[in-house]
This record gives sequence, structure tokens and C-alpha cells, in this order.
Amino acid sequence: MREKGLLIVLSGPSGVGKGTVRKALFSQPDTAFEYSISMTTRLPRDGEVDGIDYFFKTRNEFETLIEEGKLLEYAEFVGNYYGTPVDYVRQTIESGRDVFLEIEVQGAKQVREKFPEGLFIFLAPPSLSELESRIVNRGTESEETIRRRMKAAKDEIELMDLYDYVVENDHVDTACERIKSIVTAEHCRRDRVSARYKKMLEAE
Ligand code: 5GP
Repeated sequence: MREKGLLIVLSGPSGVGKGTVRKALFSQPDTAFEYSISMTTRLPRDGEVDGIDYFFKTRNEFETLIEEGKLLEYAEFVGNYYGTPVDYVRQTIESGRDVFLEIEVQGAKQVREKFPEGLFIFLAPPSLSELESRIVNRGTESEETIRRRMKAAKDEIELMDLYDYVVENDHVDTACERIKSIVTAEHCRRDRVSARYKKMLEAE
């Protein structure tokens, strides 16, 4: 029997750099996880490509996916829906590969309920002022959106307790190394590997 892959969830406040860390991780040749591309009703930003950055959907299409139970989790964030396709996640895990989700905290909470054995990593900002300047410097958001994102970020930091690990995003490369080390350690956890060794002994 093949061992299942890990469900790795990277979450944390808006603007903390989840997307940047995820992109850096997936640009490294030794990263062995599969990225689960999310669905969203948000419009593409400049340079974003359907099927690579997100699957861009209309609200109607998204609500049909919800009704049909096609999403592992979903959340409405700053006026748009975001969600994770359940079939891709299940198939990847069943095939023994690790799947990586980069999602906001409400969604992470739902995944925790459905998949308590997942690996939940909270990406934390070095400080709140640093977080605000990152959102402002992105230059893509209106003042009202920045205000709403900062409010959401403060509420989100309080949800840290739901996670197994906290990684400070002081430098992107350091954060990536920490995440990979956590995943490596997680693969060695006794409760994840003991079944394999029991089988080995039985086969003797
Ligand atoms: P953005 O609009 O900046 O791409 O993403 C906004 C927020 O939605 C980010 O915090 C991002 O991590 C989160 N997000 C992206 N995909 C998903 C998803 O599938 N589910 C949930 N719950 N959040 C997501």
C-alpha cells in the first residue's frame, strides 16, 4: 500500500507574503509538493493567467461549484470568493504526493475541520507596520481595500492558535527553507510512518 501524501496548508494574514513565498517555493527545483490552483471570482491582475495563477470563475459558476460539493473549502474575502478544488487535492494525496494550499485563514479553518491530519503552517509578518507597507507597496489596491485588508489581517493574526507551526516571513528565502524543513520533519513523524514499519515486521 502506498503512503498518502501530506496536505500542507500555508495561511496567514493578507499581505504577509503568502503568494510570494509560495511562488519562491515552486520556483525551486527541489520542491516536491504539488500546488493546488484555487478558484476565484476576483478579476485577474495584470500578468495573471487563467489555470496558472487561479481558475477565474463568475459568481454563478462559483456558486454552482459550491452546490455540487466540488470545493474542499471556500471563503468570501474582500468581496470575492476563493476556493480549493476538492478532487485535485484528494487525488494528489491518494497518489502519494504532497499537495500545497496557499489560502486565507477562514478556508484554513474549514480544512482543519475536514482534514485534521493536515500540516498547518501560519506565515507571520515581522510586524504590523511591515504588513501595511507591503499591502500599500503592492500598489494594486484602493485605500478602502487596504483598510479592509488591514482589519482582516489583525483578526487573522488572532487565529494563529489553529496552526501547528508558525513561520516568520522576515526573508522569503529563509521562510521557504523553514517550510521545507517542517515538511521534511513531518514526513518522519512516528505516527505517520509507524504503519509502514509494522508491515515490515509482519512480513518477516
Ligand atoms: P489575492 O486576491 O491577493 O490573490 O488573494 C487574497 C487572499 O485569498 C489571499 O490571502 C490568498 O491566500 C487567499 N486565497 C487564495 N486562494 C484561496 C482559496 O482557494 N481558498 C481560500 N480560502 N483563500 C484563498
